[in-house]
Amino acid sequence: MIETNRDLSYCDCRLCPRECGVDRTRGIRGFCAAGSSLRIAWAGLHRGEEPPLIGFNGSGTVFFSGCTMQCRFCQNSQLSRRHMGSEVTANELGRICLDLEAAGAANINFVTGTHFVPGIIEALTWARARGLSLPVVWNSSGFERREVLEQLSPYIDLWLPDLKTLNPRVSGPLFHTEKYPGVVEKAVSWMAASPVRGIPWAHDGVTDTLRVILRHLVLPGHIDDTREVLSWWSCNRVPGMVLSLMTQYIPTPRTKPIVPDRPLNTEELDRLSGLIDQFAITEGFIQEPEDTDLALWLPDFSRDLPFPPRFARSLWSWRTADTKDG
Ligand code: SF4
Repeated sequence: MIETNRDLSYCDCRLCPRECGVDRTRGIRGFCAAGSSLRIAWAGLHRGEEPPLIGFNGSGTVFFSGCTMQCRFCQNSQLSRRHMGSEVTANELGRICLDLEAAGAANINFVTGTHFVPGIIEALTWARARGLSLPVVWNSSGFERREVLEQLSPYIDLWLPDLKTLNPRVSGPLFHTEKYPGVVEKAVSWMAASPVRGIPWAHDGVTDTLRVILRHLVLPGHIDDTREVLSWWSCNRVPGMVLSLMTQYIPTPRTKPIVPDRPLNTEELDRLSGLIDQFAITEGFIQEPEDTDLALWLPDFSRDLPFPPRFARSLWSWRTADTKDG
């Protein structure tokens, strides 16, 4: 297991801005409740991502168990809260990456891996030595420490962070930390300036190199918070960075009274269109309302294939894996 320094250690864990300082190798759990062994739920080819990530066959997506955020509206709560999944060694994760490449994946897409950075670096080192050549996507909440990102960066080709909100009165009750806005601003700014290789994005007759795709989930009742995010974006965007606006919010009673128990309504979608014009956002991605397929946005990881078959092909599932703890 690679533990090169204090910032990449499970022993005095400060892998995320919660900085719990617990010794995960001795079974002591911090906010994320993760142990010191990699734990994953599913890996396969996934077509429900932004177009540049899909390629011909889909993004080679790996879903980790556990999460440093515990968002109240989490659509993967089977993983984030219930830790559905199986333990794997770093070599086993490296083998899964090689299998994804052999299956035709466009990239390796690590979903919510912040609490497992040391094991992920070890897995990538193992797989690169055995021929892994795909670009690697870091798909995270944006709640990251710069010191950890600096050490992760040489292994990453594209950052795919969220910018969920810049409002601490939202992040406190929904994400259990009022620090999120300040942390995510710094993390995304650092990612935007970092020297990652990027991935090609062919569009409108040109091919750009994307280094950051910034995701923002629009929350019902919080269009003014989205306005603040888009304003930040318009002041801080750099070449190679595009915005991905997500409108598929799925109501959950756990967010009341901060977020109303309903999806976005027509008036909010109209206001969002107006904001896109106001901030002159001409590049990037936005879901169309007809893209909203509940089965895609609410995967069921208790099944071998958690997503609708037209969106995904399974290569590895915790349900059938022959691993350390099955
Ligand atoms: S990764 Fe988990 S244990 Fe480590 S600092 Fe973050 S929440 Fe705490």
